[in-house]
Amino acid sequence: MADMEKAKAYCERVLAEIIKRDPDQPEFHNTCKEVLGTITPVLAEHPEYEEACLLERFFEPERVITFRVPWVDDAGKVRVNRGFRVQMSSAIGPYKGGLRFHPSVNLSILKFLATEQILKNSLSGLPIGGGKGGSDFDPKGKSDCEVMKFCQSFMTELSRHIGPDVDVPAGDIGVGGREIGYLYGQYKRIRNAYEAGVLTGKGLSFGGSLARTEATGYGLLYFVECMLNDNGIGLKGKTVSVSGSGNVATYAIEKAYQLGAKPITCSDSNGYVVDPEGIDLALLKQIKEVERGRIKEYAERKEGAEYHEGCAGVWTVKADVALPCATQNELNLEAAQALVANGVVAVGEGANMPCTLDAIAYFQENGVYFAPAKAANVGGVSVSALEMSQNSERLSWTFEEVDQRLKDIMINSYKQAKDAAEHYGMPKNYLAGANIAGFQKVAAAMFAQGIV
Ligand code: NDP
Repeated sequence: MADMEKAKAYCERVLAEIIKRDPDQPEFHNTCKEVLGTITPVLAEHPEYEEACLLERFFEPERVITFRVPWVDDAGKVRVNRGFRVQMSSAIGPYKGGLRFHPSVNLSILKFLATEQILKNSLSGLPIGGGKGGSDFDPKGKSDCEVMKFCQSFMTELSRHIGPDVDVPAGDIGVGGREIGYLYGQYKRIRNAYEAGVLTGKGLSFGGSLARTEATGYGLLYFVECMLNDNGIGLKGKTVSVSGSGNVATYAIEKAYQLGAKPITCSDSNGYVVDPEGIDLALLKQIKEVERGRIKEYAERKEGAEYHEGCAGVWTVKADVALPCATQNELNLEAAQALVANGVVAVGEGANMPCTLDAIAYFQENGVYFAPAKAANVGGVSVSALEMSQNSERLSWTFEEVDQRLKDIMINSYKQAKDAAEHYGMPKNYLAGANIAGFQKVAAAMFAQGIV
């Protein structure tokens, strides 16, 4: 008991120091608060961690790189964006995590994402550390040529800091196959070497993995199905509300159908669509992946579907399962109350930290099965790591082989979260279980490697 209190005091002290040192990083504080609120039992078992300042080191990035990204738009005007790479932890493998291009990108958001990534990558069971990067560049409304010029300028600087054994970026919001292609082309040109393993999410003709595009959305559904089956509920026949209409949302919808559920919503940052017959996946892909259009167009082209302004309203739609797949903090307490009032059974986070801390607490208090992002969306980075393996082997695996490995990884991720939660007396608290299981492995590696 005394050890628990000592461990708790250590966590509180570290959190206070983090907030004092970087008072303007609210998203990062939230992650620290969430993680530190659940890993106390591990610290109580390992008092030597405090002596080694393990938490202080865990939450301090190994390296943060910020840089200028100048480029010239189609009208000949010079533009200047800011580029970032947060290399958070290399304790169990090279830094690994996506690049985000969105006007909201700043150090607070990237440090929160990089911290999540450490634990997520640990849960994947694969040898990858944690990192994240990106830019405040907004690809929306830019021509292909402008996106290419931006990516080339971004990579000209980033190439000094990454490598197949050093740091392996991938996509995230605003960075899909097109951007990864341009980034890889410029990296190859600068290095004069075919280091395919330096980026993941590549096109299939130059080292990409089958099933990488689908991995995060598919993986989320494998996790949620496993969680629901384990609790005697099942996914078949359930209605599902999904937010977002990007990579994660699209393939979550696809796999939900394949597992016998019915997805009825999707959204973008302007509004949301409800289609009681079930989302028409072919139409969604045509609008978002081919035409790069807005979700409003879906309702204009599909009879029976309704469009509503304001993306948060998606959580007022009645559904058995809710899958937030757009962005951080998109599902707050009010939304959680609306979902619970409508009888939601389970919530699975496809996006990174889409639910606010009070929303998560509300779900848990009301018996809603909650699948936390760091365990439930681990599919994307896992197939990225499988892409790195294929690049090292100079081989390509079949879709079925990658998909089977993905499924195994998701089931294992669920088991780790479940077992850790049970072991520490918090059954069904998959968030606490995921934090503990992810942290244990990284902490052991950090401790064994000395004060670095
Ligand atoms: P995309 O860029 O493909 O799609 C993002 C979607 O979210 C779009 O529909 C976008 O709408 C919407 N969105 C973005 N910002 C906001 C906002 N502020 N409010 C409401 N909606 C918003 O990204 P991904 O699908 O790749 O990523 C979605 C989430 O999943 C992110 O949190 C990401 O970190 C996480 N993730 C992604 C992985 C991957 O493999 N891609 C892996 C693990 C996690 P709009 O077009 O209007 O901006």
